[in-house]
Amino acid sequence: MVQTQTFQQATNGANTELESHNVKIGLEIHIPIKTKQKLFCDCPTNYYEISEPNVSVCPVCTGMPGIKPYPINSEGLESVVMLAKLLNCKINEKIFVKRKHYNYPDLPSGYQRTSEPLGVDGNLNNIGIWEVHIEEDPGKYDLNYKRVDYNRSGTVLAEIVSAPDMHSPEEARNFLKELINLVKYTNRTVEVGGVMRADVNVSIEGGARVEIKNVNSIKGMVKALKYEILRQKNLKSVGGEAKMETRGYDENQMVTVPMRTKETADDYRYLPDPDIPPIYLKEISEKIVLPETPRSRTKRLISEYGIRDDYADILVRNKEIADIFEEIVSHDKFMAEISSSWICGEVLRQLNYRDMEWNDEKNKLNKKILSDLFVLLANNSITENTGKKILERVIDSGELPCDIVEKENLRIESNDDVLEGIINDVLAKNQKAVQDYKAGNKSSVNFLVGQIMRNTKGKADNKKVMEILERKLG
Ligand code: ZN
Ligand code: MN
Repeated sequence: MVQTQTFQQATNGANTELESHNVKIGLEIHIPIKTKQKLFCDCPTNYYEISEPNVSVCPVCTGMPGIKPYPINSEGLESVVMLAKLLNCKINEKIFVKRKHYNYPDLPSGYQRTSEPLGVDGNLNNIGIWEVHIEEDPGKYDLNYKRVDYNRSGTVLAEIVSAPDMHSPEEARNFLKELINLVKYTNRTVEVGGVMRADVNVSIEGGARVEIKNVNSIKGMVKALKYEILRQKNLKSVGGEAKMETRGYDENQMVTVPMRTKETADDYRYLPDPDIPPIYLKEISEKIVLPETPRSRTKRLISEYGIRDDYADILVRNKEIADIFEEIVSHDKFMAEISSSWICGEVLRQLNYRDMEWNDEKNKLNKKILSDLFVLLANNSITENTGKKILERVIDSGELPCDIVEKENLRIESNDDVLEGIINDVLAKNQKAVQDYKAGNKSSVNFLVGQIMRNTKGKADNKKVMEILERKLG
């Protein structure tokens, strides 16, 4: 019992220091790159679309002895150089591909082909990027059924290695969010089944660096980091010390568990791959036309649609949302105003309330639903109030707003006679508020409007209500 309390106290103490600068976090992020063929053979790369295992394979990507790789896939190479440039890296002129050795069923050759850095010394805002390189993805090994599928084996990955410049799980989350968004602006990544896999390095107070393997969502990373930082602080508070090791994150238990003590570069026995000639990057790099970035898009959205600066800034932070915005408004400035203010206001607020990102699979909103809702609002067919209620419902249900409006008769009430009848009724029943208003207490009009809205289930045309009220109250 006493022991439990001590542990608890230590945990609480550590919690307040979660953001301390003694915490250092670095990320190694793997991004699957979209290409027609694999990195060193001409097999198709549609592993995420097919369920039958081992059909998109050949002797190269299944590591048959003696087989020679094809020349490196130039499309993939170009995409990864583009990424490195977007991250402000210096592009190396000449690199070799190395073999990184380890034994696991997903890697039949016994080594992974991974390049020397294409780019180094970059940054994303204030976080350093140590390097960006290209490598082949291994296959998939199913631990439960002891089956292996090589459809993914040999497909193209970009690996981005950050400096350990982050000092809290929140900083790491912001960085990763921004990075993933930036990467999407290239339109060259595979976005099916989650865009990335990350390994997370974390150390506290100059202690040993612990690596957490295969984190595959931002939420998962934050939880893993919170757990791991507390674990290391607790260890320290009872006189222990974190040792250099690799741990796995167990998403269900929300804990990190030991996998193995960390391989050093030596353990991987890196060797230059003798089958692959050196790769020259200068010409490739010079030819690359960089895509629009979130920053340049912000400027364009402001000038093209006349929307507020802060809205433009919010929209571009999630490429899908900015895409949807542009598809909905198609150069109608009035729609642009309504769409940007609703997306950046109510839509994101509602998602946030549910702890959901736009890309969350539970989010049922899409372009069609939002466009339908914004048109109803723009045409003044429903009140803002009704719009908010509909939005709240369709996020989870995926219904079309105009269907709900018809089914439940939610159209705005703007018939003068109907409104006047309701208002007369409300005024008659609330003489005190009317007297207060006439005596100079102007805010009592809010109470009256509230009653009118209640009697119309929020459907009353606000502008008309105010007009009629003003006339009647004098
Ligand atoms: Zn192949
Ligand atoms: Mn890697």
